[in-house]
Amino acid sequence: MAKAGLVFGTVGTPLSTPKNPGGTVGGIRRAAEMGLGALELAWVQSVRVSEGKCAEIKATGAAHHIALSVHAPYFINLNAGAEEWPRSRKRLMDAAHYGYLAGATDIIFHPGSYFGGPPQAALEQALPRLRQCVADLRAAGNPVTLRPETMGKSAMLGSLEDTLSMAQEIDGVLPCIDFAHLHARPGDGSVNTYAEWVALLKRVKKTLGARGLKQLHIHLSGIEYGPKGEKHHLPLAESDLKYKDLFRALSEVGAGGRVLCESPKMEEDARLMQKTYAAAVKKAAQRAKP
Ligand SMILES: [Zn+2]
Repeated sequence: MAKAGLVFGTVGTPLSTPKNPGGTVGGIRRAAEMGLGALELAWVQSVRVSEGKCAEIKATGAAHHIALSVHAPYFINLNAGAEEWPRSRKRLMDAAHYGYLAGATDIIFHPGSYFGGPPQAALEQALPRLRQCVADLRAAGNPVTLRPETMGKSAMLGSLEDTLSMAQEIDGVLPCIDFAHLHARPGDGSVNTYAEWVALLKRVKKTLGARGLKQLHIHLSGIEYGPKGEKHHLPLAESDLKYKDLFRALSEVGAGGRVLCESPKMEEDARLMQKTYAAAVKKAAQRAKP
């Protein structure tokens, strides 16, 4: 039986990965050594990996029980102009093709920009393109889930509503919920309380069903922000993000899936998240006892 609850890891190989074997294979081994359960391959500049290396990554992930995902290149825009779109599409499809070969089940990507237009117009452009990507992957026998990420700036396609719309409209698409981005996006310090997070998770459940809460893919870090949203990621301890309340909310709703840490402290903060969540689960269980 699959383990319930959340597993933790980093986006990119842990900082403490030894030089030999370094890279993703070393990173998977290091993650397992530290008691982490997931790793996201940070193919954020480009997808440059051989099929042989993918097979090695897949075998290492399976041997160490590390759940793998891929962060696709930053330069993807579902709302790109007609000339740019084929290049954007290729980056996403390459990430999905090689990611699947490497044993990844989920492909995370930044959905793009509104280009100053209304969100609805961006979505009308984005949805058929994304639907076709999934159809092409399935035709090629590739079962990966595509995960548009919630973005930290209000000018970017990727509000919670945007990503939920994509997930609702297209089988094979689910959101990657970056809670730090959702906190930074309004730019006023909101989306940082237990009540707001419970409400947000209830919205996810309402849109995707109870199952949606059991297969969450979460990105998390501390975050610096201004009126327009995200500036940069921070270590948890140096930010105002009330992560303890977030993990209380996640444990209360019985969330399952993965949490990938994007703090500059990488595995140190991933383990802090893991510990915080374990404590929250324990407390919730105590409260549930008669
Ligand atoms: Zn991202």
